[in-house]
Amino acid sequence: MVDGLFVEEDAELIKKIPLSKKVTEDVLFWPFTSNGVYSSKFGYRFLKEEADQLDTSKAPPLQDRNLWSAVWAMRVPQKVKNFIWRACRNAMPTKQSPVRRTIITDPTCDRCRSETESPLHALWSCPEVEIVWVDLTLWDFRSHVSFGDFKQLVSWLVEEDKQLDLFAFMAWSIWHQRNLVQAEPSSHRLQINWLPPSMNVVKINFDGAVFLKENRSGIGVVVRDENGLVLGSCTKSLSQAYSATEIEAMAAATALVFASELGIRRAILEGDSIVVIKALIEEDYPLNPLGSILEDVKMFAQRFDTLLFSHTKREDLNEYMPLANVSP
Ligand SMILES: [Zn+2]
Repeated sequence: MVDGLFVEEDAELIKKIPLSKKVTEDVLFWPFTSNGVYSSKFGYRFLKEEADQLDTSKAPPLQDRNLWSAVWAMRVPQKVKNFIWRACRNAMPTKQSPVRRTIITDPTCDRCRSETESPLHALWSCPEVEIVWVDLTLWDFRSHVSFGDFKQLVSWLVEEDKQLDLFAFMAWSIWHQRNLVQAEPSSHRLQINWLPPSMNVVKINFDGAVFLKENRSGIGVVVRDENGLVLGSCTKSLSQAYSATEIEAMAAATALVFASELGIRRAILEGDSIVVIKALIEEDYPLNPLGSILEDVKMFAQRFDTLLFSHTKREDLNEYMPLANVSP
């Protein structure tokens, strides 16, 4: 639950908070005084120290306020907002970051081995993440507009009214994938049932889940290239409990819409529902609500130049789906 709601660093801190064995009310306490009581003197000192530490640029406050309100207004999970906000303040543990808790002697980016790993580099300008930003209609400015840091990039996206929500999701996916790779060998575990697609084809995995007790359903989609790099992922929470097969078919439809919006044209759509995959392959749709969802899937499939359907054994997509277990 904690892992789903917060970025990894915060989740670790939260899990370290000792919990009382008996049920108690949550209380807020101030962590920087011994008795936990806040006073404005300590508050001021904390803010000042934090400002000194982070050495934020001297941008006009109004412009900053516009940036922060745009970031908090994004229609993305809270975790993604937090992530973007941190990246803007250089407060995420890239190799270059001042907030790292362990000392790193080599700040070079592990992907390209050529530049210092700042947030801007890791998420945007590193040549190795080019494939993520390859959609030229959306991100063509990547090749001709240069930015001093990640915050400048996000401010520019806000000012130019670019697709900030999608940008945030993709940046988050890049960071998530980086951490998976760094945390070897656990990344192998994730790929047991996952076979890479051939060159220049991406694999779209989808999954649906029904929560009868809470009367809701969830959808998860992960799009990966032939190297297993996550190009995008999305989750959806629906306030109704559908049948297991219906939610799988709805997940397939969502997956195709999502992937086509990422600009993908050649893909394999893979899921663990044999009923759904078989119906799609055989183009044999039942005359019930499931059938009409499958007809939708077929319609969305026409957005692709090449689309194959594939059945897989159940894969645990939870690692990629931070929101799969969160209520709407
Ligand atoms: Zn790099």
